[in-house]
Amino acid sequence: MAYKLAPSGKRILVLERGDFVPREKDNWDPKAVNLEGKYQTKEKWRDKNGEELHPHTNYYVGGNTKFYGAALFRLRKEDFGELHHHGGVSPAWPISYDDIEPYYTQAEQLYHVHGERGEDPTDPGASAPYPHPAVSHEPRIQHLSDDFARLGLKPFHTPLGVQLNEQDPRKSLCIRCNTCDGFPCLVYAKSDSQVLCVDRAVEYPNVTLLTNAYAERLETDASGRRVTKVIVQRNGSREEYRGEIVVSSCGAINSAALLLRSASDKHPRGLANGSDVVGRHYMGHINSILMAISKCPNPTVFQKTLSVNDFYFGSRDLDFPMGHISFVGKLDAQTLRAGAPAIAPGFTLELMANHSLDFWLTSEDLPDPENRVTLNSKGEIVLSYKLNNEEGHKRLISKLESLMKQQTKCEMHGHECHVGLFSRNIFVGQRIPLAGVAHQNGTIRFGDDPKTSALNANCRAHEVENLYVVDASFFPSSGAVNPGLTIMANALRVGDHLIEQLG
Ligand SMILES: Cc1cc2nc3c(=O)[nH]c(=O)nc-3n(C[C@H](O)[C@H](O)[C@H](O)COP(=O)(O)OP(=O)(O)OC[C@H]3O[C@@H](n4cnc5c(N)ncnc54)[C@H](O)[C@@H]3O)c2cc1C
Ligand code: SF4
Repeated sequence: MAYKLAPSGKRILVLERGDFVPREKDNWDPKAVNLEGKYQTKEKWRDKNGEELHPHTNYYVGGNTKFYGAALFRLRKEDFGELHHHGGVSPAWPISYDDIEPYYTQAEQLYHVHGERGEDPTDPGASAPYPHPAVSHEPRIQHLSDDFARLGLKPFHTPLGVQLNEQDPRKSLCIRCNTCDGFPCLVYAKSDSQVLCVDRAVEYPNVTLLTNAYAERLETDASGRRVTKVIVQRNGSREEYRGEIVVSSCGAINSAALLLRSASDKHPRGLANGSDVVGRHYMGHINSILMAISKCPNPTVFQKTLSVNDFYFGSRDLDFPMGHISFVGKLDAQTLRAGAPAIAPGFTLELMANHSLDFWLTSEDLPDPENRVTLNSKGEIVLSYKLNNEEGHKRLISKLESLMKQQTKCEMHGHECHVGLFSRNIFVGQRIPLAGVAHQNGTIRFGDDPKTSALNANCRAHEVENLYVVDASFFPSSGAVNPGLTIMANALRVGDHLIEQLG
């Protein structure tokens, strides 16, 4: 949003509760990042039972894109309509795919997405090719891709936002390393929002960034229709800022918390919350990491290049959406130690890490009003969540298990290894726990009806004429691909609307 508005010449203030991620060798140290959680917030939240929750989220300039895996997907065209799932209905959006398509294209260009159009069988269609060629598979992943294709699937290259130049490696910012997904990029080659947007925006003289500036509360005029003050805690003192337009982009959980903290006489349930939807319908996807362990090692360095969407909308044996199969960054022993899975018989954590293909499975969770963000009497964030719509995810796991059993024989160790490999294939499933809020979305939904949504189709609060929410909060349903590109495209879309509003 700041990047989009910067050239308008309007005075823009960005308030960021965190600082810049320090550039240091620990950026790429799995022990520091995953085992010690060096960069994770130390803030404590609560679950619905009042138990402490240590959220896996990051407060820095650039937000969670500093740490993301940069898999940048468009939602499917059908995700914008109503979709029937095994566990219920995924509601329609107030805008169509065609409304946001030009902004997806802009976001792909801005974030240097690498990919190959036409490979993904559920691809929603696009007005331009990807700006960069697909990131190539390493041999083990290519082999798996060939196996999947042989079984009749349409595996495809994951669209990735990394500034990699495989044609001319000496000119490449990205060195294709094994510490990308979950790590900040030490060499600033990941397409994150700090490097590509905030750093560029603050080069404009009309843009100011204040770090360590925590937006505590929004106050309105007597009518309750306009935000007049942003109350900020910075360096231990309370400060007040004003702006003609106020945009909350704190992430789905913190934007909801900010509006709830801003309750007043005119907005007793929280700012812009006459509908009582603020904080509700929290979604975060049903995600699993599945390690497919084999006797053969998996020497892949950069693993996140392959995806499968053949089961996104279902399969011959399940006429309901199941979700998306892709990869996490290559797991290592230190990372496994942070959330140790059951050890496969005869394996150590090191061996498991060296021999695993590390899949990331995503299915859609549905917007349940009781899955919600609230504040307790101490002002702490409380996250209540009950998993729903699990059948499709379970079926997706079964599909992957069956696919893995049908791999071709291992070329490296011959037939012997092949037999052992397949008879010893072990799946270690780890469902992402509640603290894993990486894909948080949906807490301040947009819609046409002020009774059932807090924001209108331009992400402006129905009840507050100069308040916008532009982050993952606005999703009425979550689809089953990573949310980042949709959040970026929507920011560019609302940015255009604001430029028009501001003249
Ligand atoms: C490890 C990891 C891997 C991921 N991988 C992918 C991926 O491959 N593809 C993908 O699409 N998505 C991925 N995601 C998710 C993606 O990063 C998020 O969907 C996206 O960053 C959300 O954007 P946002 O603007 O809603 O919130 P955020 O990125 O969380 O940004 C919110 C910002 O607001 C600041 N803030 C919060 N509260 C306040 C306050 N009160 N006052 C001032 N500032 C405040 C925060 O510090 C932060 O900078 C991943 C996330 C993680 C953690
Ligand atoms: S160098 Fe490339 S692969 Fe490594 S963290 Fe940076 S963007 Fe990711």
